[in-house]
Amino acid sequence: MRPVASAVSVASVLLGLELATKAISLAVGRVGSGFSAIMNGLDSHVSTTRFVCGVLLLVLGFLTWLVVTALAYAEQHMARNGDRCPSCKGGTHRVKRTKTQKIFERLLGRELSARHGEECEWSGLALKY
Ligand SMILES: [Zn+2]
Repeated sequence: MRPVASAVSVASVLLGLELATKAISLAVGRVGSGFSAIMNGLDSHVSTTRFVCGVLLLVLGFLTWLVVTALAYAEQHMARNGDRCPSCKGGTHRVKRTKTQKIFERLLGRELSARHGEECEWSGLALKY
């Protein structure tokens, strides 16, 4: 629920800003004209260096938001008790973590355990306790 609330909050702020000031459509138009200016070798509203740095920061900020939102979503859906399968409530056993799961653990900043259901085909991550 938290990722949805976060997305609704950001969307509300952006929509409110657009409705009250047209700032978003002006910014999008300026970014578009900045790309056109670079492609056609014309002057833009800002220097090319400043424009490229700004666009890179926009992309970095958006990607960071995506990663943080995905991590929050994944953490919410992770098994809290690794001994019990979240699918069938049967037992689980530890399995070796994949490289992706190790990267995920570092990004999350929490110790995780890869688990596999003993009575079904469930496999996933659980918080280490
Ligand atoms: Zn199971």
